[in-house]
Amino acid sequence: MKKKRIKKPKTFEQYIEWLIQEGYTKENGEPIKCEKCGCKKFKNENYYCGESWVEEYTVKCKSCGTIVGHWAYGNWQI
Ligand SMILES: [Zn+2]
Repeated sequence: MKKKRIKKPKTFEQYIEWLIQEGYTKENGEPIKCEKCGCKKFKNENYYCGESWVEEYTVKCKSCGTIVGHWAYGNWQI
């Protein structure tokens, strides 16, 4: 079965839609696999802690080091 691809994303919204359609990102923005190498193994880095809990962290691909997502205050950001 042929994969249907959206034409090159032009806007940020289209880019997000593309990431979700291609299975790179969940709809809530949580990363599933690396955009560059397709690896599904990630590591969390750059923890920023508030007084007693983690407020932000960056998610990186274990294989190529690409930043695949950023989590802050309970939400995923791309
Ligand atoms: Zn990667």
